[in-house]
Amino acid sequence: MIDLNRYEVWLVAGSQHLYGDEVLRQVAENSRQIAESFAGADSMPVNVVTQPVQTTPDAIRQVFSAANAAADCVGLILWMHTFSPARMWIGGLNTLHKPFVHLHTQFNRDIPWSTIDMNFMNLNQSAHGDREFGYLCTRMGLARKVIVGHWQDPEVPGELATWSRAACAWQDAQGARIARFGDNMRDVAVTEGDKVEAEMRFGYAVTGYGLGDLTARVDGVDDAAVDALVQEYEEQYDVAATLRPSGAQRASLYEAARIELGLRAFLEDGGFKAFTDTFENLHGLRQLPGIAVQRLMADGYGFGAEGDWKTAALVRAMKVMAAGLAGGTSFMEDYTYHLDRDDMKVLGAHMLEICPSIAVSAQPSLEIHPLSIGGKEDPVRLVFDAQTGPAVNVTLVDMGDRFRMVVNELEVVPPDEPLPRLPVARAVWLPRPDLKTAAAAWILAGGAHHTGFSQALTVAHLEDFAEIAGVELLIIDDTTSLREFKKELRWNDDYYGRAGRR
Ligand code: MN
Repeated sequence: MIDLNRYEVWLVAGSQHLYGDEVLRQVAENSRQIAESFAGADSMPVNVVTQPVQTTPDAIRQVFSAANAAADCVGLILWMHTFSPARMWIGGLNTLHKPFVHLHTQFNRDIPWSTIDMNFMNLNQSAHGDREFGYLCTRMGLARKVIVGHWQDPEVPGELATWSRAACAWQDAQGARIARFGDNMRDVAVTEGDKVEAEMRFGYAVTGYGLGDLTARVDGVDDAAVDALVQEYEEQYDVAATLRPSGAQRASLYEAARIELGLRAFLEDGGFKAFTDTFENLHGLRQLPGIAVQRLMADGYGFGAEGDWKTAALVRAMKVMAAGLAGGTSFMEDYTYHLDRDDMKVLGAHMLEICPSIAVSAQPSLEIHPLSIGGKEDPVRLVFDAQTGPAVNVTLVDMGDRFRMVVNELEVVPPDEPLPRLPVARAVWLPRPDLKTAAAAWILAGGAHHTGFSQALTVAHLEDFAEIAGVELLIIDDTTSLREFKKELRWNDDYYGRAGRR
């Protein structure tokens, strides 16, 4: 469902006519080589396409206008190989709606000490050309990422690849549709938010549907399709005895498959990229969707439980950023703690809806258990432990005057012991720098209990995404000190109150 290969980033080099045609020809050739090298880098998820060297205000306006209109162009790389008087760029930058990277590289890596002459100096000028351009961008208050280093150093295409993933998620969100079945869980605060502001800020539209619209699709599912999906479940998962052909709850497995097919059809027909449901609005559905939500997430849909559309959209963005990377991405909730002071950690889970992309086992267990809330038939769900290793938890909250993103670095660890009676998928983790600091910082920041959890992404992906989206970002990692974090919260309130609403 998510294919980043269709997307492009455009490399636009700046120059001027002062140096003569031979230098401009050389700039164009160098720009072509760099784009080709970036496009061929193993880490690069998108194509990198070179554009003509820019030397006039009119041409700059035109290339930016073309970038705005190109549906598959997720952003630009701007690089001043030679000096390019920056006032030429004002008109174009005023109209540019796509994100951009300011690449600060030099075509020649080394100074040719014994042969350097003024021809070399005329061509390799980014050390001052990019400073001229940087001044203008800062003067105009433009959000961008600045990447510094030689273009053949793998770190440079690596940083560009990370940013490109964020730019893809941004492009994916523009015009995206998010379906809500029912409203938010009653009386809950943090899952609420301003849908108008979200659409203005992030580009996605959140629309609500009655459960009857969904149950009509579920009831209309073809029996043969249900049989085929049950067979697929049996091939992919370790099916519990009560759900097997002669098991007492076999009918519930068919019902779960029917719900998945109806939900999937609804989302596909409506062109939705993410969705929410809530256990309090289930009229007409016999089970709370469990395996259905888990498998839809694994296919790239964003999801938030209890009507949490902000997290649904965030999980979708994280899935786009993570496409093709090792490690899974899921909806998650900080559920319960282990508070041994020498080994404090979190058990993350949800009632049902954890994505099997994070499972350690290739064949998760397919089970049925009662759900103590909701008053429905027992829901079918996949149960598994998460892969161990580094991960991030991300929350997006509505502060009333702005959106705030909080990212916490984690280390997923194995459970101390097997959890034979826990009937849900789960992950156990140590938050950075430690639970005591991380949880205090998270709570002071107003971070939600729901998160987007990823073992594929790093803080850098979220940092680039937040920069593109223009949202406040707070990072909790090994460098976090609570004393400094509290100051950051106070300073940010002042900044966003005065100047942050660009
Ligand atoms: Mn929840």
